[in-house]
Amino acid sequence: MHSLDRFAETKLAALDGAALRRRLTPTARHPGAVLDRAGRRLVSFSCNDYLNLSTHPTIIAASVAATQRYGAGAGASRLVTGDHPLYDALESRLAALKDTEDAVVFGSGYLANTGIIPALTGKTDAIFVDELAHACIWAGAKLAGAALFTFRHNDLDHLASLLAATRGQARHALIVTDGVFSMDGDLAPIAGLAALADAHGAWLMTDDAHGIGVLNAGHGSAYGEAVPLQMGTLSKAVGAYGGYLCASRVVCDLIRNRARSFVYTTGLPPGVVAASIASLDLIASEPDYCAQPLRKARLFTEALGLPAAQSPIVPLILGAAEAALAAQAQLEAHGFLVAAIRPPTVPEGTARLRFTFTAAHEEADISRLAGLVRPMVAVPA
Ligand code: PMP
Repeated sequence: MHSLDRFAETKLAALDGAALRRRLTPTARHPGAVLDRAGRRLVSFSCNDYLNLSTHPTIIAASVAATQRYGAGAGASRLVTGDHPLYDALESRLAALKDTEDAVVFGSGYLANTGIIPALTGKTDAIFVDELAHACIWAGAKLAGAALFTFRHNDLDHLASLLAATRGQARHALIVTDGVFSMDGDLAPIAGLAALADAHGAWLMTDDAHGIGVLNAGHGSAYGEAVPLQMGTLSKAVGAYGGYLCASRVVCDLIRNRARSFVYTTGLPPGVVAASIASLDLIASEPDYCAQPLRKARLFTEALGLPAAQSPIVPLILGAAEAALAAQAQLEAHGFLVAAIRPPTVPEGTARLRFTFTAAHEEADISRLAGLVRPMVAVPA
């Protein structure tokens, strides 16, 4: 056996032994919350397509029309010839929704974070990241090569003490947090973070991947002037694919010049950009529809006597990876898909079921699911 294969086999066996091995399961999604998986039809509570726009006929039609007109691929990096005419429309809609001067679109949210953070900070700077921030924020922060500080989850006092202790030692300080935490569903204290950033002359960046389209009439967890760097994704409530930064015109221009994951990669396919444009038009004109995922999540937390959901994401922490997998299997036997989330996606000992609610969920399904989950809520974390 080749030493590389032996290496891979050993690593996979270790993952297997800890119930941490992942396997792909081909999944065919249908309009609404239904999908086919491993020969079964299930109601999914594990999709980030919060507004079910990825299967919306208007969005699909916009995508098809753009593909027919401009082709299946962009053909080059945006700075060469890949900047097809639809980008401008997408960036101006994002800037309007977020109430910023400008916006710049990336190939994905992951690419956005790994491009933006190192474009703005380097060796002489300091970055402060919430301990539960998304993996691609950490990836961007590590790539930047700046001094990296972790503050306790949503702990403004801890962040303030770190900022004070490092004052004068770095040229620039950047604070980065999720706006909605992807595995916990809680919200960052944006007003407090913005005040701290102001007090310390630091720059604040939020990742609104799970907020855009679903919180505050679709504007997301952060918008307007308080947060100068508003990053997010087009792959969740917007129902398509891509990442973005909403910021001032001059900052967006710098990013177009310096973010390596913008400069050195092919632009998004025209059909994907057109889908996002159509989705953002719908989001801007349908605030009541945008409120549905959170309303559905609250029906669920209310039925279980849990604190009211703050976002369409509701975690149920079960502890061991095996426990989370067993709970997933139990719900699957009743026709529900709720994916177990295990380390390293979440901290050791906090494996969980992660329920995500979408506009399409039927109230009867939510209440049947709550009935099945009720006995699990008593399980200590
Ligand atoms: N940030 C957060 C908070 C996320 O949850 C995700 C998606 N898992 C991303 C960024 C990455 O976005 P994308 O899927 O567009 O790469």
